Amino acid sequence: MKRVILYVLYISLLAGCGAPAAGSGEEPETVQLIAMDTVMTFAAYGDRAAEAVVQAAEEMERMERILSRTLPNSEVARLNAVGSAHTGPEVQRLAEASSHYREATGGAFDITVAPVVSAWGFTTDSFQVPSDAELAKLLPLVDGSAVRVDESGTVTLGPGQSIDLGGIAKGYASDLTAALYASAGIERGKAELGGNVLAWGTRPDGKPWRVGIKDPARPDDGNAFAGIVELEDSVAITSGGYQRFFEENGTRYHHIIDPSTGYPAESGLTSVTVVAKADGSGTRLNGAMCDAYSTALFIMGEDRALDFWRTHQARTDYEDAFDLVLVTEDGRVVVTAGLSDRFEPSEDSGYVYETAS
Ligand code: ADP
Ligand code: MG
Repeated sequence: MKRVILYVLYISLLAGCGAPAAGSGEEPETVQLIAMDTVMTFAAYGDRAAEAVVQAAEEMERMERILSRTLPNSEVARLNAVGSAHTGPEVQRLAEASSHYREATGGAFDITVAPVVSAWGFTTDSFQVPSDAELAKLLPLVDGSAVRVDESGTVTLGPGQSIDLGGIAKGYASDLTAALYASAGIERGKAELGGNVLAWGTRPDGKPWRVGIKDPARPDDGNAFAGIVELEDSVAITSGGYQRFFEENGTRYHHIIDPSTGYPAESGLTSVTVVAKADGSGTRLNGAMCDAYSTALFIMGEDRALDFWRTHQARTDYEDAFDLVLVTEDGRVVVTAGLSDRFEPSEDSGYVYETAS
């Protein structure tokens, strides 16, 4: 995450806030701001909607002040500077959850990838391809198994390590929004945090929200979708190589780093969307989970991603069930079975659509 460069907070009555039309006369209250280096739009319906969207925006700013590793006084920046620090509940919870996601993904998701992300310049926008020698020096620092959270709330990193919560923070932000909407009694609304969407309740006409999955081949065209998913009380979190990248000598380098190589992942996927139920009770971090998994599965590639999905599907007691939409470099969109009847292909997109089971 990078420092806030621009801050806009306004309440307006933008119908649907850029989303497909809600299909009813009722208008949402909306707030838009830039936080965590992302344009965020919150929309909500109902009596307490105005209050709820403002609170959500304030919560995002609070999260950024805690979680950003480029704001010198944030909790994460302090932890990275000193290696062991008493932190607030958010950092503790995300550090613990990240350990779990690291184990679940065989190390593909690893918040201790921070020094490597920095070496590529993604934290400062001074992009560069690091030398092999530099990567060889930094790669041993990438080992999330060294991160400890003790009962007193102290988070301790391994020697020389630092953490980057950029791969999980926006998903967590959608969890916080769901909890906030729930406690404000908001029955329907939507939050768009970059490519990450919370679809809360239904649209005012009672139909599911229509969430577009951006076409990774046409990232600058706001209306180019690889498909639309129909969702209620769900989160849809996308990771893609098109979201943040630079080019050098004709090669494109993006911001999702494979911890096993120190290089941007090249797995044959151009985007991964993970969809799960949203939890407004504050107990489950399904948004954070989807965010971590979208980053990890992008690195793991199609076959391993589908195996990962099947393994989780097989566990019938599993409360964190999720589904996937994978977009591949060779022009396919693969939708897992649980989502297939809620997925609408985009006509004329040129993609071939497949269902995985
Ligand atoms: P976005 O932030 O664009 O939504 P992601 O959720 O995929 O995309 O997160 C990418 C960010 O996560 C990077 O900018 C970096 O801060 C961090 N990151 C990169 N590689 C990894 C990784 N292997 N594990 C955990 N975090 C990562
Ligand atoms: Mg992520």
